[in-house]
Amino acid sequence: MKPLSNTVEQFTESIFSTMTKMAMENKAINLSQGFPDFDGPRWVIDLATKALNEAKNQYAPSMGILPLRQAIAHNYQRFYNMKVDAASEVVVTNGATEAIFCACLALLNPGDEVVVLEPFYDSYLASIQLAGAKVVPVTLKAPDFHFDIEELKAAVSSKTKLLIVNNPHNPTGKVFTADEIAFIGDLARKHDFYLLSDEVYEFLTYDVAHKPTATYGDLKDRTITISSTGKTFGLTGWKIGWAIGPANLIKAIHNVHQFSTFCVAQPLQWAMSEALIKMDDYLVEFKADYLRKKNILVKGLKECGFNTIEPKGTYFVMAMLPAGENDVDYCKKLIIEKKVATIPTSAFYIKSDEGTRMIRFCFAKQDETLINALKNLH
Ligand code: PMP
Ligand code: GLN
Repeated sequence: MKPLSNTVEQFTESIFSTMTKMAMENKAINLSQGFPDFDGPRWVIDLATKALNEAKNQYAPSMGILPLRQAIAHNYQRFYNMKVDAASEVVVTNGATEAIFCACLALLNPGDEVVVLEPFYDSYLASIQLAGAKVVPVTLKAPDFHFDIEELKAAVSSKTKLLIVNNPHNPTGKVFTADEIAFIGDLARKHDFYLLSDEVYEFLTYDVAHKPTATYGDLKDRTITISSTGKTFGLTGWKIGWAIGPANLIKAIHNVHQFSTFCVAQPLQWAMSEALIKMDDYLVEFKADYLRKKNILVKGLKECGFNTIEPKGTYFVMAMLPAGENDVDYCKKLIIEKKVATIPTSAFYIKSDEGTRMIRFCFAKQDETLINALKNLH
């Protein structure tokens, strides 16, 4: 038989699937893959039930139902003072993952280069490679995960088509400073490349406000902003995401979306179109809950002797391992001996070996789950 796609043949199982599987096999508490072990808000689920019962069960418009696009645009306006045209500047996708995939396929040609800040969310690499483009990694340096200005400048050239920034940042919990985003923006203008800003943790920041990359000066003209409702509503299985950007880029992204999945589950879109405009009270509770969970886990891990790095955003916390330890072996040991599953972060690096010195814990879990995990780790 003839060989399969050379690109796809190189792909391996996502580290998130591997670690969740290992957690189940070993009956370990799963603080690895990022998803809540509690259900999303009942009022949002009720909205979906209502939509299911109202016969909203056929294909949705490929761009996303207009009320959802309007709700998304409305939220960018009220939260960030960012003007978004619901008709032409928003496309609804199957989670942020599909938005990233479509954006890469829409923008990239073979030979183009994409600067990716490592550690990175794993789907970036696969999406870039499937588009035939080249990944150019720049390492964020622990413990504050800053980029080295010279390293970033050296990574950029006339071949650079796109730079991907994830803010707030998975897995490090970093929130980029205004100076850092402004510096990236200056490079983008100077070398005329696009920015893909993955902001799925936009509502999960602690003591700092989230500021979309597209709100920095004129960066809106070259930025694709990606987000989703998975984290914000604790409904990762619904896979409602979107890309926002200039109309010509959104048109191209939609062209890929219409031929990859065509549209997103219609009843869930109706539920989200209502939930997004009614989310203010929920957000207060959501933020308070995650702040409490972060404090339980960070404080508890410190008491267990872990060298944690305080996250400014996301629902993850990184811990530096003692000298001589390796992340993969350490994670295996934690699962088998302590019955707690985490993520070895070397999976998120291709240039530096810094990831071998760190592991990631997820605190999108019931307080009780976190407390039980901490008991195991003592
Ligand atoms: N980007 C980042 C940084 C993520 O952590 C995740 C998922 N956890 C995604 C994108 C994918 O989001 P979605 O589930 O909406 O596809
Ligand atoms: N983004 C989630 C995490 O970081 C996992 C998403 C997935 O499993 N694809 O754990």
